[in-house]
Amino acid sequence: MESVVGFEWPIEIVELSESIEAHGGERVCNLIRGVGNSDTKDVQCGWDKINIPFPSKSTRHRRKPSPVKENGIITDNLVNFMHLASAANHLIDNPALQLTPVILSRDAMAIKPSGDLDLSSDTLIGFKTPVDINFVKENPYPEPKFIKENLYTEAGAIIAMTADKTASLHIANDFLLPKTTGEDVYQTVTDTVKVAQACLSCISSIQDDTISPDQVNCSCSCKDCEDGDSVCEQCDGKYDHPYSQLRPCARCLSNGLQCQKLIVIGISMDCESNNSAAMKRLDSDQTGDIKFTRSFPDAVHAGKKLYRASANWWLLLDGYRVNNSIIRCLRQFDDSVCHQLRVAVSDSSLRNRDRMDFGAIIECTNPKVASCIQSSRCAPSVTMTLFPDPFWKTKTSGTITTAQDMCLGIYCYLFI
Ligand SMILES: [Zn+2]
Ligand SMILES: [Zn+2]
Ligand SMILES: [Zn+2]
Repeated sequence: MESVVGFEWPIEIVELSESIEAHGGERVCNLIRGVGNSDTKDVQCGWDKINIPFPSKSTRHRRKPSPVKENGIITDNLVNFMHLASAANHLIDNPALQLTPVILSRDAMAIKPSGDLDLSSDTLIGFKTPVDINFVKENPYPEPKFIKENLYTEAGAIIAMTADKTASLHIANDFLLPKTTGEDVYQTVTDTVKVAQACLSCISSIQDDTISPDQVNCSCSCKDCEDGDSVCEQCDGKYDHPYSQLRPCARCLSNGLQCQKLIVIGISMDCESNNSAAMKRLDSDQTGDIKFTRSFPDAVHAGKKLYRASANWWLLLDGYRVNNSIIRCLRQFDDSVCHQLRVAVSDSSLRNRDRMDFGAIIECTNPKVASCIQSSRCAPSVTMTLFPDPFWKTKTSGTITTAQDMCLGIYCYLFI
């Protein structure tokens, strides 16, 4: 077969082969393509035999959208989110300014650190420093230390949601290195807040894929106004509020346009040590761009933490000792509610200690379970072993040799 220069596959064929790959897997694609290559002289194409010249794997994958590999705020996503947010409930909506309150949530997931080849840009992604052909030429023998320090170990994302919960979108990547500190998290969050609070027309003028805070030039702050907490003489009549977050930007004002902006009123994160350090600093540092931004723990993580603790320990909540095994006991033995409880919650969910399994948490905390406990006759006087059987019945060293019991009295304190 002659090699053809400038040949391009029809889009339908590439899409067909992609869907074959999606449904049948790579093996089916390889089977159809067969073993033929461009050196084979007598290729006879036809549906009755294999060796159908289908696009190669790299051709198929080249068409796939490029993975979002850059750290930072994704311009297109932020612009799209701002368009979506324009239909939400606004804090201020007048001819000069449309201000929408939003909440950011940030979470990261540990990944297996590795480099992955992105065919659309011919770079190895997964590194902080871009690893492409030039890098390889300059560093033929990279130091192991360099690789260790530059490989991302966690993939994080920042999601924006309007305060009325009508729109949400992933607006930024936050990939973390092994040596990420609380200060780095604080910096990422403040940078994201600064860019997210810039107005739509200023953001739309940026051509790059990702935005850095230095590129944003959307300002209308006045030092006199902010220092005095009231509109100064110079700004009087021009602005209603002393703070730049609540004012239309200078550019929109001079062009006579309505300035469409977001105001970040909160950010939620899990309480991992770096994040809690960042949150403490955010809450003590209520100036500049983060003046109206408060941080709070992520409800899902707090719930998961509490749930797992209640499966393992006896927690003291509002003067009551709480453990999932109380519900298990009622579910098994309390004649007044056991039937309803068996319908409401499964035994496996109550025994589940997997903190990532949110399905079990939802099941154990559903309102039916709560109402069963309230109407139960035995709930105020459940008596059960403090340590599960495996911890004292076995003869292994370090385990308890006699049964330890606890009793929940009327006031539900711990009696040992
Ligand atoms: Zn602006
Ligand atoms: Zn002023
Ligand atoms: Zn503006």
